[in-house]
Amino acid sequence: MIKVLIATRNKDKLKEIKEIAESQFEIFSFLDFPDIGEVIEDGKTLRENAVKKAITGWENTHIITIGDDTGLEVFVLNGMPGIYSSRYSGGNYADNRKKLLYNMAGVQDRRARFVTIAALVLGKNAVKTFEGKVKGIITQKERGKNTFGYDPIFLPDGYTKTFGEMTLKEKNKISHRYQAFKQVFKYLRGVAQPG
Ligand code: IMP
Repeated sequence: MIKVLIATRNKDKLKEIKEIAESQFEIFSFLDFPDIGEVIEDGKTLRENAVKKAITGWENTHIITIGDDTGLEVFVLNGMPGIYSSRYSGGNYADNRKKLLYNMAGVQDRRARFVTIAALVLGKNAVKTFEGKVKGIITQKERGKNTFGYDPIFLPDGYTKTFGEMTLKEKNKISHRYQAFKQVFKYLRGVAQPG
């Protein structure tokens, strides 16, 4: 089985990614490598941050590594919080949601999208990136307690449940992360069994 390192310590993300990988890969994370230091997300784009995380993983372990960076881009806020999604309020997930709902109070146009960039590092100078996006709207108030982050205030287009009301399986059929990682895992299966 191919060993793959996911360049994160975020247990919520890992749970989703393991489910997407469907036991076809032996998945490790930074939780298995406590000596790897914190990766400072100082890139100007999601891509730069994802690549930085993946290269850090590969350089420390020489295991094929995938780094992902995700942002919630709100149309009327010119794409904010975007790359600042995790640090938006300076607090936790709930504080971030509260700040976003506050900034969107009374706003009619609630269009938003989640974007994930997954960067795959197969070796020195062998980096490929994959993108996943899902469009939706920011709800007026929180709905649901499943999954994580901004999920309880994001209603994907064409659905009646927010990501926070969906089960992990339901979210994983359509999410930004699913769309990016299904491409990565397909690519990796092709590398392992060319032709
Ligand atoms: P990261 O920089 O990729 O770790 O993610 C940035 C922030 O975006 C996280 O701290 C979460 O608040 C949020 N986030 C990332 N992925 C998701 C998701 O799938 N649903 C909801 N929020 C997410």
